[in-house]
Order: sequence, then structure tokens, then C-alpha cells
Amino acid sequence: MKTQRLNNGLEMPRLGLGVWQSNNGQEAIYAIHWAFEAGYRHIDTARIYKNEEAVGKAIKQAELPRQDVWLTTKIWNDDIREGRTTAALEESLRRLQTDYVDLILLHWPVDGKAAAWQELERALEQGKVRSIGLSNFMEADIEEIIAAGNVVPAVNQIEYHPYLVQAEAIAASDEHDIAITAWSPLMQGKFLQEPLFAEIAKRYNKTPAQVVLRWCVQNDVIVIPKSVHQSRINENGQLFDFELQESDMVAIDQLERGQRFGPDPHNFDF
Ligand code: NAD
Repeated sequence: MKTQRLNNGLEMPRLGLGVWQSNNGQEAIYAIHWAFEAGYRHIDTARIYKNEEAVGKAIKQAELPRQDVWLTTKIWNDDIREGRTTAALEESLRRLQTDYVDLILLHWPVDGKAAAWQELERALEQGKVRSIGLSNFMEADIEEIIAAGNVVPAVNQIEYHPYLVQAEAIAASDEHDIAITAWSPLMQGKFLQEPLFAEIAKRYNKTPAQVVLRWCVQNDVIVIPKSVHQSRINENGQLFDFELQESDMVAIDQLERGQRFGPDPHNFDF
């Protein structure tokens, strides 16, 4: 599996399996099993997905050396607001049946984020996490964390796909060498029939999903596509045996239209 070097020196797999909306039972367990079979070594979950138990079980069942699997989870908004980030991390570790996660993110930039960040810094010192990062943090939120903390975030996970690039958040992340992970990289599957994707896919003998994910990867963005179907998990895993030409990258860039499939981090209420 290809990796990207983070600002803390760790190598993060450039492809992971997203498990939002996978149930906390056989659905997530099978999806993770198929992902490992297809060569994925990175799983992206969160407390709020309510499937950390299944993720933990699937990783145990796989019997891979723990250090070969990159596991990301996230601290939910209520825990950040209530000042219980450390307790929430302990609860996640227990559900995941592991001593540490590779990456923990503050899920959204809610009130209490600076104090929550300092709690994550302590967890890092204690070895309960190998990297700490952000999710849905925009320019001003990133600067607040940099000012409040001693550790620069390793990752910012944001909505990112051909219809939404969030250039300002990426520029603010780049300034601190913070890696970008794309959530909803496939636009939740809703626009893969866009004619440009089909046209490009045909020329490379690939599928529209592979073209979109490859475009992300060539922009140095880590991808965590979600599927619970073995054929799609396999398909989404075949990204490193072809390269899009510059002209195709530029043609996809031109689709940008500021279209979100999730909430706007500048204005959300949950
Ligand atoms: P996605 O863009 O990965 O789309 C997933 C959907 O696309 C699937 O449910 C399926 O309908 C379709 N699909 C998948 N593979 C396909 C293929 N090969 N061909 C055709 N259709 C295909 O959407 P997502 O689940 O929203 O995002 C991925 C992951 O990002 C999540 O599972 C989660 O881990 C993470 N996420 C994080 C946040 C956050 O706030 N940090 C928010 C949303 C999602």
C-alpha cells in the first residue's frame, strides 16, 4: 500500500476504507475483511458512526500485526464541548479493543476545541495515539489550534471531491504541512455518471470511481471511500497502477462548483 509521510514522520496509507453508515455487525466486519484482502491497511471510523466495536472485532479477526493497520477514529462534538476528550478516547480504545490508535481527529471545530487539542497532546505523550489531527477545520480554526497547542496537527480531514476543493482550507493546512484526507471523495456515489469521468475512464480502461479517487491521490490527498460491497471495495482499491495525464487532471479540476454533500464547517449546528 502506498503511503504519505506526515509532518510527524509517520507513513499513512494513501487509501483507507471509510465505514460511516456501515452497521456495527457483520456489514462492517465483512467490509473490513474484504478491504484487507484487497490490500487496504487503513480504516476510518468515529465514535458517532457507532461501529467501533465491529471495527475492533474485524481487526482482531484479521490477525494482521497491529502495526500493519492504520486505524483512525474521531472525538465527537459533545465530548469536545463537555471537556471529556480524554475519557472519550479511552472509551473508543475500549470499543476498538486496542491500546492505541494511529490517528485521532477532533471531528468538527466546536467550542472547546483548543482545550480538547491540549488533551490530545497529552494522549500523544502517553502513547495512546500515534498522531493527532483535525476534521472539518477551516482557516481560522486551524490557526486557533496552532496558537493554543505545541503539536502541529498531522492531518485535516475535509470534504473533498471534483465538485468541492475547499482551496482556502487546503492552503491553510499546507502552510503547516498538514496532510489532507478527503471525505466523501466519491461524492457519496451520486455523480459518478458525470460524462467526463466516463470518457476518461474508458481511455485508461478504468471506472469512473477509480478516476475520481486517482485524481484525489494525484493531488496528494489521502482517500477513504466507503463501500460494503466486495466488488466496489476491490475496485476502489485499484488506484496505484495507472496515472492520469496532466490534461485529464486539469479537465477534472474544472468541474469545481462549490457543491457540498455534507454540512458547511463555516456554519453548522450539531
Ligand atoms: P463516499 O464518497 O465514499 O461514497 C460512498 C458511496 O458511494 C457508497 O455508499 C456507494 O453508494 C457509492 N460507491 C462506493 N464505491 C463505488 C463504486 N466503486 N462505484 C459506484 N459507486 C460507489 O462517501 P462517504 O461515505 O460520505 O465518505 C467516505 C468516508 O469518509 C466515510 O465512510 C467516513 O469514514 C468519512 N467521512 C468523514 C466525515 C467527517 O466529517 N470527517 C464526513 C463524512 C464521511
